Amino acid sequence: MRYVNEHDENTAERKRVFVIPTEQGKGRKKRTIKTSLAIMLLLPVLLTACATAPPEEKTPAAVADVDGRLTVTFLDVGQGNAVLVENDGLFMLIDGGDREYSSFVVSYLKQQGVEELAYVVASHYDADHINGIVGALHAFPCKQVLAPEYATDTRVYDSFCEVIEEEDIALAYPAVGETYTLGDAAFTIVCPEQYGAKEANDNSIGLRLAYGDNSFLICGDAGVEMEEKMLSGGVALDSDVYLASHHGSGGSSSPEFLEAVSPQIVVISVGADNSYGHPAQRVLDDIAKVGAGVYRTDECGTIRIASDGEQLTVTTERTAAESLEEAGPAAAEQTEAETVPTYILNLNTKKFHDPSCPSVDEIHPGNKAEFTGTREELLAAGYDPCGRCKP
Ligand SMILES: [Zn+2]
Ligand SMILES: [Zn+2]
Repeated sequence: MRYVNEHDENTAERKRVFVIPTEQGKGRKKRTIKTSLAIMLLLPVLLTACATAPPEEKTPAAVADVDGRLTVTFLDVGQGNAVLVENDGLFMLIDGGDREYSSFVVSYLKQQGVEELAYVVASHYDADHINGIVGALHAFPCKQVLAPEYATDTRVYDSFCEVIEEEDIALAYPAVGETYTLGDAAFTIVCPEQYGAKEANDNSIGLRLAYGDNSFLICGDAGVEMEEKMLSGGVALDSDVYLASHHGSGGSSSPEFLEAVSPQIVVISVGADNSYGHPAQRVLDDIAKVGAGVYRTDECGTIRIASDGEQLTVTTERTAAESLEEAGPAAAEQTEAETVPTYILNLNTKKFHDPSCPSVDEIHPGNKAEFTGTREELLAAGYDPCGRCKP
């Protein structure tokens, strides 16, 4: 199998990028999803951003332009959760990982151009979710914190309350059905039905983020009882991307729930060789049954999923052969079939060529890149067709 590695100057990591067209609307058929799961290698678009501006000048807007306009990044925070959402220059942080990742989360956000957080969502007050939030609230101004209405007697919970008070941040306990906007995206609270459950995890705030035809479901450490309430409560759950609740624990992601969500992609935010045994084999099996591809932070590192409102682009920090295999045999076959680039780009002149065009040999190797995708995507990215080969 051949693929193109992108060298990212910010992280000096290799990445694999591919685009997954998503089904539109409701009533998606599994068979259709599998056969339409065309995975393309779409590196030059990102390279363009690197080529035209040094990393420190890379603005969030530029990132959004090349990748689609909503980005949802699942940060690799080991055993924990931290999700950064960006649309139209507005940012939302959902959970922040445990203490040892707190400074990583802050520096990652700075690197992404975050100067202010429109929303911070604390799914619940367990250390692996809340520690990094306290760090982020000290580092960035925040317009609105959404958190569950219960208290714990931990030091990190005290620190959380202190920073909210010190910085005079608006704090709300959201209710199921409430909808908030983030630029052109919107998210709706799907759980908990009520606060005060004995188990901290069962106070987890869950939300469904929608952007155009794409949607993401993120529910902290919600367990099967909460899932039952969501199913019987009639909230919309159907989502393209599902962050496996409670790090893929067997106490979450029931078969019925997975069927209702019917995701194409499941992200599992989990520490390598964690002592909890997350993710559970039962959950992995049930994810496979609904035909979704799996991306795990312990294998892929930080995972970014960008949406243009119709299709999703997945970028992983590390090349993880495992993650592609888990995306299913159909995906792997499609990738094999996509090894021929559709166009050759000149990143300097912003012209695109047919691979057979004689001009291709004249392009300086530093300015040359392969692109697999449509002509329309290139035109939209500001590229012009070569006058010689007229691609
Ligand atoms: Zn928890
Ligand atoms: Zn957790």
